[in-house]
Amino acid sequence: MSLPQFRILQPLTLDEACRMLDEHGSESMIIAGGTDVIPNLQMRLFAPRVLIDIKPLRELAKIELSRDGLRIGAAATLTHALETPWLGEKFPVLSSAISTIAGPLQRNMGTIGGNLCLETRCRWYNQSKFWRQSLGGCLKKDGDICHVAPGGKFCWAAWSGDSAPAFLALGAEVEIASAAGTRRIPLEKFYKNDGKDRIALARNEILTAVHVTASMSGRRGVYHKLRVRDSIDYPLAGVAVAMDVDSTGVCRDARVALSAVNPAPMLVRAAAESLIGKKWSRELAEEIAHVAIRTGKPLTTSGSTPVYRRDMVRVFTRRALEEVWNSAQQSS
Ligand code: SF4
Repeated sequence: MSLPQFRILQPLTLDEACRMLDEHGSESMIIAGGTDVIPNLQMRLFAPRVLIDIKPLRELAKIELSRDGLRIGAAATLTHALETPWLGEKFPVLSSAISTIAGPLQRNMGTIGGNLCLETRCRWYNQSKFWRQSLGGCLKKDGDICHVAPGGKFCWAAWSGDSAPAFLALGAEVEIASAAGTRRIPLEKFYKNDGKDRIALARNEILTAVHVTASMSGRRGVYHKLRVRDSIDYPLAGVAVAMDVDSTGVCRDARVALSAVNPAPMLVRAAAESLIGKKWSRELAEEIAHVAIRTGKPLTTSGSTPVYRRDMVRVFTRRALEEVWNSAQQSS
């Protein structure tokens, strides 16, 4: 599949990138690693006349730890994050999730910001233009029907990223810049749970960084992922757990987040209430696993069945909790 015609602009600073975005408006798109954008252009899901390349902006490529916590620039590559040794020690759920993203080649190119801003995915949408046209398009693109939920007016395309649930489990915030200035919002509020209008990023805004507060450093955590090909694929279901377990094995705080089973990555809110103050037991893990499957609402957006994906959310939640608690016991 060939690419459409476009111009590439390479700003020298973030301010210049914001000005370019203002100037070219809806005719432009931001590109960094391009591992999501380029295939989408090839499928003619978008046809921008201008791509604004923020990858060379060094101010967006840093990964820093300070007294305030962790700050990862949006243009930092996934490989850079994985090869930052303290990141895995202090925020294990993050390195666990990032290590599952695509394969090494894509991680060398792909960025943290790109992974947080992925397009939602659906078997009726991520196809060539010819393929889509043969069905008359769908609600998300060039049509007026949803093939997943005919009769509905909502797009159920699934959020299919891996770093977002890990960042949600760490209570992260995102930093967003525009010509008007910078704002910070909780990552949870960044996702709109709408397959068609997926993130709270205006056309003149750029995601510039993600922050995790210092109090989350040292949280035990892990990410489990279902995919068709273990070496490269998008998630069909993902579970991230980050937990603070004290020396007596009691959970002091916990966050569980899901991916790929809703149009947004989602926190399993009730999990924390049930976990805090408790010690490990198989029954408790099974209870939380059942709470998790009530949060995930997979539909037939992928080749795998919703029933199987829901069941894997249950299995992964139980396994992740067991793994995190075991690691606490081994080090106490
Ligand atoms: Fe299209 Fe429906 Fe799939 Fe959304 S969920 S991409 S509207 S078929």
